[in-house]
Amino acid sequence: MLDFNNLEVAFSSKSQGELRNAYVLFKTIKSPGMVKFLKGASNLALKLNFPIGWAVKPTLYKQFVGGETLEDCNKIIEHLKKFNVKATLDFSAEGEQSAEGIKATFEETIRSIDFAKGNPNLAYAVFKPSTITKDEILAKASEHPEQLTAEEKAQFEEYRERFAALCKRAYENDVRLIVDAEDYCFQDAIDAQTDEMMRLYNKKRAIIFATLQMYRHDRMPYLEKIYADAKEKGYYPGIKFVRGAYMEEERARATRLGYPDPICKDKAATDENYNAGVRFVMDHIDTFELFMGTHNEESNYLLAKLIDEKGLEHNDQRIHFAQLLGMSDNISFNLAHQGYNVTKYVPYAKVKDVIPYLIRRAEENTSVAGQTGRELNMLSQELKRRKVQR
Ligand SMILES: Cc1cc2nc3c(=O)[nH]c(=O)nc-3n(C[C@H](O)[C@H](O)[C@H](O)COP(=O)(O)OP(=O)(O)OC[C@H]3O[C@@H](n4cnc5c(N)ncnc54)[C@H](O)[C@@H]3O)c2cc1C
Repeated sequence: MLDFNNLEVAFSSKSQGELRNAYVLFKTIKSPGMVKFLKGASNLALKLNFPIGWAVKPTLYKQFVGGETLEDCNKIIEHLKKFNVKATLDFSAEGEQSAEGIKATFEETIRSIDFAKGNPNLAYAVFKPSTITKDEILAKASEHPEQLTAEEKAQFEEYRERFAALCKRAYENDVRLIVDAEDYCFQDAIDAQTDEMMRLYNKKRAIIFATLQMYRHDRMPYLEKIYADAKEKGYYPGIKFVRGAYMEEERARATRLGYPDPICKDKAATDENYNAGVRFVMDHIDTFELFMGTHNEESNYLLAKLIDEKGLEHNDQRIHFAQLLGMSDNISFNLAHQGYNVTKYVPYAKVKDVIPYLIRRAEENTSVAGQTGRELNMLSQELKRRKVQR
C-alpha cells in the first residue's frame, strides 16, 4: 500500500552520514533570518567575484544539485536507478544576459537533449525559455509585441529559432522535452510557441510538454483549449502541472503595474485548481501525457488513486510523478517502490551559476508551516529508527 510515511523506504537511498548532513542543512535553512543572510552574502560574493564554492558545495549544492556537468550527473543517475527512479537533467544556470552566455546555455541544452538520447535512466530533457534570450526581449514580445523595434524583432526571431531547434532535436532523438513555465510576463510567448511545437511534433505521442502553473486562475480554460485543439488537429499534448514558483513577485508586479492579480485567491483555490487539472487530464488520458511536478502529498495520493480507479498500470508510460532532487524523498521513493513512474529533476551547473536556484530552494524550505518542518521531522524520525535498530 502506498504510504508516504514509510520512512524506511523513503530514506533507503541515504547513508547514515548523508541523513545527518541533510538534517543539519534543513535545520539551518529553517531560520528565515539565516536564509536572508545567506541570500545577501551570496549575492554580494558573486558581485565581488569572491569564491563561495567552499561554503556552498558541501551543503546546499550537495543536497540539491547533481554536479557541474552532464557527466558529473552519471553518479546520481546510477544511484537513483537502483531505486527505480529516473533523472531529468536540468541545466540550471540562470540570469545570464550576455549574448555569449545565452548562446552557451542554448548549446548546453542541446547537449543535454543528446545526452538523454536512448538512455532509459533519463526520463525527459528540460529547458527554461528565458535562458535562451534576454529577459527584456521575451517580456516585450510576450506582453507588447507591437512595440518591438526592428532590432528587437530580430532578437526575438533568433530566440524562436533556438526554441524550435531544441524541439526538433528532441523529436529527432525521441527524447521527451519539457518547456518549463516562468514569470507571467514571459508566458504568453512561451505558450504560443509550445502549442505550435506540440502540434508539429506530438502527432504520434507526446514529445513536447507544456508546463501549466496552476496557481494561475486562467489555466483550466487554457487546458481545455489545448484539449479542443488537440482533438481538432490530431495530436497528443504533453502536460506538466506545477503550482508555480513566483507567487510573491507576480502579486507584487500586478499591484505595481495595475493589472488584475493572475494568481488564485488563496492556497486552497490553487490546490483545487491543481487537482482539477490532474483530474481533467486523467479523464482524457487517451489524448494526453502527464508529468505531475509536486511535493504535495495530497496531489500525489490523488494521482495514484486515479491511476488505480482507471485500471491503468502503475508504470503506464504516459504518466510520471516528479519531485526535485533533495526534496520529498518520502514521496518519490515510496511511489517508485510501488512501481509508479517517478523522476527527480536533477539540476546541474557551476556553483556560481546555480545560486539563484539554490536560494529559491532555501526560501521554499524556510517557513515552519512548509516543507522544512516535514523534512526535518522525517529525517529526525529516521535517524532515531536506525539508532534503535543498531
Ligand atoms: C519537478 C518539479 C518541476 C517544477 N518546475 C517548475 C516550473 O517549470 N515552473 C514553476 O513556476 N515552478 C516549478 N516548480 C516549483 C513549483 O511550482 C512549486 O513552487 C513547488 O513545487 C511547491 O509547490 P508544491 O505543489 O510542491 O507544494 P505545496 O506546498 O502544496 O504548494 C506550495 C505552492 O502553492 C501555491 N501557493 C502557496 N500559497 C498560496 C496562496 N496564498 N495563494 C495561492 N497559491 C498559493 C504556490 O504556488 C506555492 O509554491 C517545479 C516543481 C517540481 C517538483
